[in-house]
Amino acid sequence: MKVDYLIVGAGLTGSVIARSLADAGRDVLIVDRRSHFGGNVHDHAHESGIRIHTYGPHYFRTSSDRIWAFATRFASFFRYEAALKSLVDGELENWPIAASYIRRRIGEGWKPEFAGRPANFEEAALSLMPRAIYETFIKEYNEKQWGVANSTLAASLCI
Ligand SMILES: Cc1cc2nc3c(=O)[nH]c(=O)nc-3n(C[C@H](O)[C@H](O)[C@H](O)COP(=O)(O)OP(=O)(O)OC[C@H]3O[C@@H](n4cnc5c(N)ncnc54)[C@H](O)[C@@H]3O)c2cc1C
Repeated sequence: MKVDYLIVGAGLTGSVIARSLADAGRDVLIVDRRSHFGGNVHDHAHESGIRIHTYGPHYFRTSSDRIWAFATRFASFFRYEAALKSLVDGELENWPIAASYIRRRIGEGWKPEFAGRPANFEEAALSLMPRAIYETFIKEYNEKQWGVANSTLAASLCI
């Protein structure tokens, strides 16, 4: 088989590139080591009819008419209203953090922990908030995502 492009990985990235190339008239072969398309955003129907997000819950949002028009060529979406909360010290708190939470926890006169030009992610985060807030909401969450210490990540990831 002769193709113009071979794309390895049929997640969002590979699929969008493949579709765009095909729309432009190119012959494309897309392959994936998994038995389905969609990569980590894949979902499937449970026998009860409920849709299961195979690799963890995903939601889609965009303010771009162009992106919405592209995505809805291939799928329909369930409308949702998200209310994100974090369980902190036994209380459900808003996420992202609200200024009212910082005032309640630290006090009206709270100040960021770090002043100056941040050299890494940790300093950048501490330039925005007190240390106690950073340690409760940001430190472990971010280090778990990236798998390395925040002090080794670029400041630009935070600001
Ligand atoms: C739990 C979870 C929740 C998330 N929630 C959201 C959300 O709510 N909203 C949002 O926008 N994003 C969310 N994301 C992020 C989103 O899943 C990713 O941004 C997106 O899936 C990235 O697409 P991708 O095509 O780059 O990579 P992937 O989805 O990882 O796809 C890569 C594909 O390439 C295949 N592949 C890799 N190597 C090879 C190889 N050598 N040979 C063959 N195939 C290969 C893999 O099998 C996979 O199917 C979430 C991610 C996770 C894990």
